[in-house]
Amino acid sequence: MNRETDETGRVSRETKSRAVGGMRFPGTSEGDAGLSSENIDIGWTPIMEEAQRATRVLHPETLDLPRPAQRRIITVANQKGGVGKTTSTVNLAAGLAIHGLNVLVIDLDPQGNASTALGVEHRAGVPSVYEVLLGENTVHDAAAQSQQATTLHCVPATIDLAGSEIELVTMVARESRLKQALDSKVVEEMAPDYILIDCPPSLGLLTVNALVAAHEVLIPIQCEYYALEGLGQLLNNIELVQSHLNPSLWISTVLLTMYDGRTKLADQVASEVRDYFGDRALRTVIPRSVKISEAPGFGQTVLSYDPGSRGSMSYLDAAREIAERDVTKETA
Ligand code: ATP
Ligand code: MG
Repeated sequence: MNRETDETGRVSRETKSRAVGGMRFPGTSEGDAGLSSENIDIGWTPIMEEAQRATRVLHPETLDLPRPAQRRIITVANQKGGVGKTTSTVNLAAGLAIHGLNVLVIDLDPQGNASTALGVEHRAGVPSVYEVLLGENTVHDAAAQSQQATTLHCVPATIDLAGSEIELVTMVARESRLKQALDSKVVEEMAPDYILIDCPPSLGLLTVNALVAAHEVLIPIQCEYYALEGLGQLLNNIELVQSHLNPSLWISTVLLTMYDGRTKLADQVASEVRDYFGDRALRTVIPRSVKISEAPGFGQTVLSYDPGSRGSMSYLDAAREIAERDVTKETA
């Protein structure tokens, strides 16, 4: 038995902290003489596990994600507010980008939350998605590199976008302005593997533009009461867009967010969603996590804000599932 375990074999609190201090984690040179992983068996500790998770995120070259056979354009939509659209868009984008995939985020919400979380400037006057919709600027010129990864870019949303739902009404091809902008030569040259579009909490013209421009819809569903209310309306709208404007659109992915395993309700919502959507609902669920909600306040995704956290790992796992499913579909 280890000399610092008690009679019952449990590692004491004091032992845990000393032993953790003495561990050598990959990529660090920390260590107390005489207490290294080679000469002491400390068993499992939460800090060890977190450090190992952080290492996985910080050294993504040890993992690799397949590059999609064709560019995937995914609209993240749910007209219900606060269900995790933006959080999922930016963290999935970061999860894909840290593996070297080329990712472009389009912030199509006048709130500009995705731009904030990706640390991209979006004060009034900076080139933004508003001018792109108006045809006054290209996606390339409006896109800014995110601080989160060199292969992650974002076309920000400024406050100008707030009036665009009304301005678009009188425009030619008002539902396909974003599609036209993404079908351009400059986007070909940027060669993004993934384009993720963050929608506002409404089913107005901005969301319709996102649905017309995309191949896939990802619906985040919060594991809470009323989660499924209003979903029928979203599905109707998607069907309308499919039948009139974009026949190739399909709901490829449903992501359960803010899952709290302590509540029965979360499990009920999860099983209802799985019953309805089948395996389009990702196996990975995103837990309710303080770290996830804190990250945007620092202009970061949770993957860089706290790489070892459960929230970070869950988004990394969800990104992997999304990337690997595409391969399954292509080869099926
Ligand atoms: P809106 O409809 O306003 O655009 P949204 O659907 O984009 O909202 P988010 O902004 O991503 O939703 O999330 C709503 C709030 O919940 C935010 O404060 C966010 O930080 C928080 N949040 C999102 N996901 C989680 C999570 N897994 N755990 C804890 N908090 C979360
Ligand atoms: Mg949002």
